[in-house]
Amino acid sequence: MPFPTAELIVTGGHIYTLAEGNLGPVEALAVYRGHIVALGRATEVRRLAGPQTRTVELQGRTVLPGFIDAHMHLTSAGLRLTGFVRDISSAGSLAQALEQLREAVKAHQPGEWIRARGWDESHWPEKRYLTRAELDWVAPQNPLIAVRIDGHLMTINSRALARLTIPRQRPEEFDEPAGLLRERTAWLAYQQVKPDLAQTEQALAAGIGLAHSLGVTSLHDVVNPLQIKAYEQLRRRGLLQLRVRLNPEIEVLEPLGELGFSSGFGFEYLTLGALKFFADGSIGARNAALSVPYADAPQSLGKLNRPQDELNRLVKRAHEAGFQIMIHVIGDRAIEAALGALERADVGPGDRARLEHFELPSPEQLARVRRLGIIASMQPNFLRWSGAGGLYQERLGAERDEQIDPQRAVLECGIPLAFGSDGMPFGPLYGLQLALNAPHERQRLSWEEALRAYTLGGAYAGYAEEELGSLEVDKLADFIVLSGDPAQAPDRLTELEIEATYIGGERVYLRDDYHAAAHAITPE
Ligand SMILES: [Zn+2]
Repeated sequence: MPFPTAELIVTGGHIYTLAEGNLGPVEALAVYRGHIVALGRATEVRRLAGPQTRTVELQGRTVLPGFIDAHMHLTSAGLRLTGFVRDISSAGSLAQALEQLREAVKAHQPGEWIRARGWDESHWPEKRYLTRAELDWVAPQNPLIAVRIDGHLMTINSRALARLTIPRQRPEEFDEPAGLLRERTAWLAYQQVKPDLAQTEQALAAGIGLAHSLGVTSLHDVVNPLQIKAYEQLRRRGLLQLRVRLNPEIEVLEPLGELGFSSGFGFEYLTLGALKFFADGSIGARNAALSVPYADAPQSLGKLNRPQDELNRLVKRAHEAGFQIMIHVIGDRAIEAALGALERADVGPGDRARLEHFELPSPEQLARVRRLGIIASMQPNFLRWSGAGGLYQERLGAERDEQIDPQRAVLECGIPLAFGSDGMPFGPLYGLQLALNAPHERQRLSWEEALRAYTLGGAYAGYAEEELGSLEVDKLADFIVLSGDPAQAPDRLTELEIEATYIGGERVYLRDDYHAAAHAITPE
């Protein structure tokens, strides 16, 4: 690409390119019109400087490609920032969760809806779900919904029960005395209290700022139609400074297909990605579909969300309509169902089908995934539930705990690996640290492998590896400045600070600015 002089030169630190065969570090990079135009020795790159060139002096800091979060729910993260949803994920016990809910109640008028999210009983000494009676006790005057961290289960109080229309088609998903709702029934109930378009836009705007502060420059968001509209509004108003690949749920197949849209449609910052299916639930909620019963519930194999022939039919239709396919699979029985449907639909390596979470594949399933060119889209964050005394060991027993989230085995098998956070919590450094220090051998990655999964891996899963995911000449200049070198601190990654974030060569985040602005956000 011919150009007069560079617009931006970055130098004076360690620049890891993460390119295949050339990890780096290199000394300097130059940017012109949003793209990297030179990379290498500082003396050579500096020759591209002119009077208009801006220079970033790293002063020994580290540069990495911007992170690509391949599985995220940005609206949920944003709704916590704007106060629409109260985050109670920090509660370390049932008593603390109730205390945090009581505080949320104080901040509301009687009668107002309260939505809380993020409780995780597996970390609590009480080791049990919140109940309707407890929520009645903390919120006698307000309808209250408290969604578990995995989003597959929620508890509601009596006021909420009186106001919501709870579908009764799936009685096994609704325990009325306990106020417990699961899966589709929980989802349908939550639809009745979800945010409107303006609230969604506000949440996404806040979420985009948060993404920048965490070093995320691209994400693959799992979205509903309202969220697609909100993204599009932000894009039109010039507020979408994040590369977003939209992954709508399968329900939109018919309208999108009729309009002739398929994966890849869109603009530079907003493209249509895969259609998302659910094959099962989660291990925490004991509805991940297993072939051998739960260790702590010997009667239960979990549950597939759809009959096999329905999954087959939908996958085939989506594939024929030109959509990339992403299927949520946790248990080995769900992986089996998804593989069966993908094989029957003749999905091959060029189609880059994705299996989300992919927590309990058998060796035979790994081989089939490799053969079909399927991408494993995994969340190293989930490793926090693995290891001695963890939720996975309790639910599945020690033997299966050693087999779960086998990121190393996935790479060794030659399966493309993309990392995401699933918002639990949002932020790549947290998951990367877990991947580097995982409890079991089959899970543990080197820092280069883990970083590539959070950059190039996501780029490949989004058909963007020609433009994103590593720092190379002609690729987009999406990069972050870190306070230290991850190679020097593999067990202290979460102590590193994201100092600045650049998208297409434009600085979208500077740490000190953000902290000043973030304090201006007051909950509710
Ligand atoms: Zn998810």
